[in-house]
Amino acid sequence: MGNITDDEWKKLRERLSRSAFRSRFHLGGKEREYALGKGREEIERHADSFIRARLAPGNIPNDGKQTPMKGHPVFIAEHATGTCCRSCLGKWHSIEKERALTEGEIEYITSVIMRFLDEEVFKA
Ligand SMILES: [Zn+2]
Repeated sequence: MGNITDDEWKKLRERLSRSAFRSRFHLGGKEREYALGKGREEIERHADSFIRARLAPGNIPNDGKQTPMKGHPVFIAEHATGTCCRSCLGKWHSIEKERALTEGEIEYITSVIMRFLDEEVFKA
């Protein structure tokens, strides 16, 4: 894996748009302001560190509950893109559970989150 391509993002976005649950996640005013205040690079660093802390380990006792529903633009992006927990990574991105994520997978997930945030705020 590695950065998601334009074509893969198009297909993924199309699949996500058919899920009522995923489609309801959008940045609110506060999250948008926060994202713009920090800037794209800083937000990308936050995404990388959240993924490493909350998704990358092979064993996550609270899997499915590790990503809050609001409070940080990256959390919203994770729910919107099916990258919020290892079960969703399995279902939406075919990344299997019960093993540590690879560096390539971390890069891929970060790029998916940033695609969403680009459309919501940075390149909107
Ligand atoms: Zn999930």
